[in-house]
Formats: sequence, C-alpha cells, structure tokens
Amino acid sequence: MSVDAFITETTIQGDDDGPLSGLTVAVKDNISTEGVRTTCGSEMLADYVPPYDATVVERLKAAGATLVGKTNMDEFGMGTTTETSAFGPTKNPVDESRVPGGSSGGSAAAVAAGEADAALGSDTGGSVRCPAAFCGVVGIKPTYGLVSRYGLVAYANSLEQIGPLAPTVEGAAEVLEAIAGPDERDATTREAGADADYASAADGDVDGLSIGVPTELIEGADDRVVEQFRASLDDLEAQGAETHEVSLPSVERAVQAYYVIAMSEASSNLARFDGVRYGPESDVEGNWNESFAQVREDGFGDEVKRRVLLGTYALSAGYHDRYYAKAQDARAWLKRDFDEALSEADVLASPTMPVLPFELGESLDDPLQMYLADANTVPVNLANLPAISVPAGRADGLPVGLQLIGPTFGERAIIRAASAVE
Ligand code: GLN
Repeated sequence: MSVDAFITETTIQGDDDGPLSGLTVAVKDNISTEGVRTTCGSEMLADYVPPYDATVVERLKAAGATLVGKTNMDEFGMGTTTETSAFGPTKNPVDESRVPGGSSGGSAAAVAAGEADAALGSDTGGSVRCPAAFCGVVGIKPTYGLVSRYGLVAYANSLEQIGPLAPTVEGAAEVLEAIAGPDERDATTREAGADADYASAADGDVDGLSIGVPTELIEGADDRVVEQFRASLDDLEAQGAETHEVSLPSVERAVQAYYVIAMSEASSNLARFDGVRYGPESDVEGNWNESFAQVREDGFGDEVKRRVLLGTYALSAGYHDRYYAKAQDARAWLKRDFDEALSEADVLASPTMPVLPFELGESLDDPLQMYLADANTVPVNLANLPAISVPAGRADGLPVGLQLIGPTFGERAIIRAASAVE
C-alpha cells in the first residue's frame, strides 16, 4: 500500500556497471534532476524542470544506481513532519496514522516501505536523521564539506548537507561513498575524507570505543525514548564500549540560534522565487512589486512565509546585532563545547529525536512545538559535524533512533559504532 512517499515517479537507469549497480535510489525533491521536475514540495516550483543534474545525482548515475523518483518533503525543507508539503503529507510506513518525520519524510518512508533500496535527503537541522529515526531506518548527515551541494536548492547553506538513508548502516555507507568528495562547483567541499572507504567501517567492532553521553540531550526527552536509548547503551557496553557523561552547556541556546540563522539564510535564498528568475509568471498588471508580492503570496505556504518574514526581520538594520550576531556567537560557543566533549570521547551518543513520531496533524498548528523537537539534531549542524541515526528498537510499537555524533570527518567512527547497534 502506498504511503505517498513520492511526488514524481520515474525510472532512470545509471551506468551499466558500478558499485551501486542494481540499487534503486529515491531522491528528495529539492535535489536537481535533469529532465525530471524538482518541486521542493512547493506550489512555487510545481512545474520546474531543471536542465541539469546535481553533482550527487551525477555521481549516483555514474555508480550504476537506478533513480526511481523524487520524494515528498516539507516545503523547501522547512519542517519536521513532511506535512508542510504543497503535495499533501506522507504517511509513516510503521504506523500510517503517524508522520514520517521531516523534512526528508518521503525519502525515509520510501526506504522503510521497500519502495527504494536507498534514498538521498538533505539535512539542514535534522532532516535526514529525524525521518530516519521516525521510520526505523538509517540516515547519515555528513561533515559539512564532504558532499557537494551543487544542485541542491538552498534553504540555509551554512548548515546543510545531502546525506543517504538506507535500511542498514552498510547500505547508507555505500551510498555515502558514491556521493562524497570534492567538487569544483561547490567551493565549500574539501579533499579530506574523500577517499575513505565508509562501508568497510561497518564492522560492528566497538571494543575499546569511548562514548560520551551529553546530559543536556537527554534531559528533555520522553521517558519511553530514554529507556530505549539506555538499553542500547548497555548493549554497546556489553560489546566492549565504554560510556561516560559529558556536557554541552551551550546546547540550551542551540534551537534559538539555529532558527535565527536558518530563517535569515532562508530569507535571502528564497528571494530568487519572484516569478522572473524562478516561479510562475504573474498575470498581475501592476508594477513589479505588486506582481512579485502576488507570486509569493500564491506560491509559498504558511511555514515558508513565516520564516521569510522572521528571517528578514532578524537581518534588518537595528535588529541584526540583537538576533543574528548573537546567534552566530552561540554557534561559536557550541562548537567549542563539542570540541571539548570530543576530546574526551571518540563519539557522542543521544536519542536522535526526544519524542516518538507525532500523530498526523498533531503539530501543524504549533510551530514552536515542532521547532523544539529539533533540540538534539540542530546542534550538530551548527557545529558542522557528522552524525548518524540508527534504529534502536521500539517504544509503544514506534521506532526510536539513536544518534551518534563524530568529530569533523569522523564518519568512519560513527559508522562503526552504529553498526554495533543494529
Ligand atoms: N526541522 C528543521 C527545520 O525546519 C530542520 C529542517 C531540515 O533539516 N531541512 O528547519
């Protein structure tokens, strides 16, 4: 039965032989695909067909993968449930009365429902890890700069990375291997980590591994989630890992800092949707301002409008220092906290999401509740670090995700640790 994971279905065969030959891959609909419409879950781009492939899509094809479709998502990646999509919600394959998480909910649902062997999502503040956790699959948010963003429609470019989702850690690592590495069309990509063999790290060997557990990432979580999380840590200890508490004091400002930075970047990135550069032409016979306003009034949903307004406000003269500059400060403090915690541990562990998957419709009228659910994922993006979400059993029949966070370009360490959780 369909869970409405796709906005557009297609079949595009990759090269004949490559490491991903025979693998079917679904791609989030904010990643450009030549000749296949790329909507970002928005009315604004409902008819937009890119003339080129994103670097990651080129690389998937070159590795032999078959592209099976473009997946549903929160509009422009703004959300945690996939319900802000202009194309309607996707259902969670584990329990169809629940959301699949977001914003890459279609990608996670496609993998969980067996409609694709693997998928790509984008993670600005948790959008790969949250849906992976809610749907019971594996999702990786790579170190900033490991994967090219060329062809990704930008939401908040200083925070986001494209990452893989798959049923297993090894499967996700194989896709990461195919898409990672420098790209001259994205100047923020780096050489480091490019040649790493990620799949071979999934060997389940955690003997002697030191795992730091940030107390702040457990405090606000649902008891049922924490119980499952602790059981997974016990299991890792039984396999030879050592765990100890660490502290990330600045994490208390992370959600606020994230939303100021993400909305500020979004307000600037989304200025291109004006009906001239991108978006449908307006038939308003007024001046350019009137026509521009009408295209945006019709083309954007409520969540996108809210963020463009707040982001524009945070960047405006007189308020910049009060909001944006402070958020950047908080970001720098958080990076220092992570450096310190990771000097005392190989990886850090937390619940991926502090809550179980919401009922469909439950969080739609309460944006603040939705933002707070990102408490454990956004700190990782602010610090540009790699993290993975791996299924860690169920509570009340619903999947719980365990998040492992590594040092910069420490993908192999988190992949190794995650493979011992499976
Ligand atoms: N839920 C977060 C937000 O709405 C993260 C989204 C994402 O990673 N694209 O911004």
